Amino acid sequence: MTKMNVESFNLDHTKVAAPYVRLAGVKEGKNGDVVHKYDIRFKQPNKAFMKMDALHSIEHLMAENIRNHSDHVVDLSPMGCQTGFYLSVINHDNYDEILDVLEKTLQDVVNATEVPACNEVQCGWAANHSLEGAQQLAREMLEKRAEWSTIFAE
Ligand SMILES: [Zn+2]
Repeated sequence: MTKMNVESFNLDHTKVAAPYVRLAGVKEGKNGDVVHKYDIRFKQPNKAFMKMDALHSIEHLMAENIRNHSDHVVDLSPMGCQTGFYLSVINHDNYDEILDVLEKTLQDVVNATEVPACNEVQCGWAANHSLEGAQQLAREMLEKRAEWSTIFAE
């Protein structure tokens, strides 16, 4: 296959074993700042996906809470295929710490009593949320914490 511009388009999605956390890219700026991008895969590609309302709520919850656990977060955004998220961090290169930050963030999701910014002023589709769905996704992910660093199936 021809090499494509988007890193994940060069990933064989039939070979991965979700859930996992995979380093998907490293980019260094001209002043030496370095951005690491992670593929946080919740669901097995082409076998399962996150329902939109649950995905939307876990996105709000994770995006808000992860910044309480790390000052390095640039962005956390959902994948259009609804199987995971991308996390970008700046000037931080410790994979195991990323897993710990993610674990704490998902624990926050489990303990949440509401979805932050779930209103028409702060969100683009405020009617499309499910706290319960988000918490189910977080619990499923946490149950498989030991597998996060295993990216490919045997
Ligand atoms: Zn929103």
